[in-house]
Amino acid sequence: MSTPAFSLCVYCGSRPGVDPQHAAAAQALGQWIGSRGGQLVYGGGRNGLMGLTAQATHDAGGRVVGVIPTSLVEREWANHDCNELLVVETMHERKRIMAERSDAFLALPGGIGTFEEFFEVWTWRQLGYHDKPVGLLNLGGYYDAMLTFLNGSVREGFMNDGQMDLIRVDTNPIELAEQLVQAAGCAPEGISPQL
Ligand code: AMP
Repeated sequence: MSTPAFSLCVYCGSRPGVDPQHAAAAQALGQWIGSRGGQLVYGGGRNGLMGLTAQATHDAGGRVVGVIPTSLVEREWANHDCNELLVVETMHERKRIMAERSDAFLALPGGIGTFEEFFEVWTWRQLGYHDKPVGLLNLGGYYDAMLTFLNGSVREGFMNDGQMDLIRVDTNPIELAEQLVQAAGCAPEGISPQL
């Protein structure tokens, strides 16, 4: 495969969640990444939404880079079908490499690992450690309560609107991915599907 058109980091659940629309969105996103000549950078596991996104990217001809700490190789079923599977010593190394290897970041629904990764790249952005776009997929209102809390934090004076403006929130995985990749200055191949 030639150089990928873009490299998108996807943070998402190591579980599939109860609502099947989350799995469908993960698969649609992976299919979009592959069909647009892109590269997925992710946590390197085969379980949950992580595995579904990676499989769909791979099946659509995309490049898949997995980054996983040694301690999680068994627990998260390391995906040996990745084009590159980087087994690293620590979680910090994992996150640093995932950030360095990506043009933009997209968090799908997930649990505390996903929250931690999303908040970290967001805080790194506001501190100026990087200037890459950060997106949150609020599918089925999954993140409504978190966004309500964050807006409350703005009202309470612990955050400001400028910080909220640093993240893009959307309910459609493809539209959000397109926004992020374009904001990163990358040009995905092909025409976007009508959703
Ligand atoms: P979860 O959203 O909890 O299902 O986890 C999704 C991914 O985040 C998994 O690959 C976890 O290994 C990863 N993860 C869990 N804790 C952390 C952390 N502190 N920093 C970065 N990733 C984490």
